[in-house]
Amino acid sequence: MSSGSPATQGGTVIRIHAITALPVTFGTDRERMSFLFVRVEGDNGLVGYGEACDSYGCSYASVLATVIDDVLAPLLIGEELEAVGPLADRMRLFTRRRLGDQWVGPQARSALEIAMWDLLAKSNGRSVSSQIGRVRDSIEVYASSGFLEEGPAAFHAEKLRPFLEAGVRMVKVRTGPEWRDDIATMTELKALLGDGIEMMVDGSETYTLSTALELAHALADLDVRWLEEPLPQGAHAGIEELVRRSPVAIAYGEHLFGNDEAIESMRRGRLNILQPDASTAGGLSAARDMAASAASFGVRVVPHVCAGPISLAANLHLAATVSAIRAIEFPPTLLPVWKTFGTGADLGLSAITDGHLAIPDGPGLGVDLDEAAVAAHPYEAPGARAAGTTGGLPDRFVGDR
Ligand SMILES: [Mg+2]
Repeated sequence: MSSGSPATQGGTVIRIHAITALPVTFGTDRERMSFLFVRVEGDNGLVGYGEACDSYGCSYASVLATVIDDVLAPLLIGEELEAVGPLADRMRLFTRRRLGDQWVGPQARSALEIAMWDLLAKSNGRSVSSQIGRVRDSIEVYASSGFLEEGPAAFHAEKLRPFLEAGVRMVKVRTGPEWRDDIATMTELKALLGDGIEMMVDGSETYTLSTALELAHALADLDVRWLEEPLPQGAHAGIEELVRRSPVAIAYGEHLFGNDEAIESMRRGRLNILQPDASTAGGLSAARDMAASAASFGVRVVPHVCAGPISLAANLHLAATVSAIRAIEFPPTLLPVWKTFGTGADLGLSAITDGHLAIPDGPGLGVDLDEAAVAAHPYEAPGARAAGTTGGLPDRFVGDR
């Protein structure tokens, strides 16, 4: 390795020395959520942090921890970290035919890929995005709020008020099986929020095609910008039909694992807006590749965010390195999670100016993990509860009326 190679410090090659998966469970104001962090130690004494997301925290975090400890860590420990790409490829190529390219495999790989970026950039004394090539220092956020069924319009308006006061101009809400009631609530909410607020809707994979079309027409009347995951993600034929016929843009992507899947989805016309997540798709580079492909299809890219502080930071650095990304998801319900487990850059409400969140500019991700907080929140498996849902919600995943 030449002395000028990127992962050298004082001419010393960095080797990956140790890897530790860190699953946790934390009670938010809605429910208990789990998260999966990982620590990657270099033999230069520096530590990189990563995180995996299964689209809602990481419910089965102990499963991913086992994949990391038993399968992926042995592929990385002792390896030179000259660049992230070769080691990310190594993880994928060694596991692809057994663990697959979807779900747990890429989610676990995402955590390690992000941690390697953090370690590499820290070793070079730069932020991850400045190491890749930063195109912006802040990114517009959209407030990703709750299910409309959880309260009247005034309840939702009150929750969103601090964000509007911070200049946030994009708001997403969630509809459920009683979607006509939700439309009535949303109509009131839109009036309460006032002019100039762009609204989006997440359908949480609730609907059949005919209902999704009815819903889409109702949302078009409300000038809703996009309808997200209205049909179960695997209902490809129905989704293709919906995208052809819907009067509002259809968004998918938080369950797409890498560029091959993103290209296939876009070729088949299964989305108008792509929502990659660096902590799900296979890592920061996988999400950047997906965003680059979206440009070829004329598809808008708005990254998904719904996990802990390391995942948010990774997606902020994604947004910082892709010109076409103009906004990123920001779920207010996770603010206490970021505050509890994150150190470094402020990711809270006070960090939002004119609706934009600053991209952390400290070394690496600019956000570290508070390992004392990790130790204080041991992981609890969800048991018989349907992970990632509140009581009663599993019903919505078996069809509408
Ligand atoms: Mg979503």
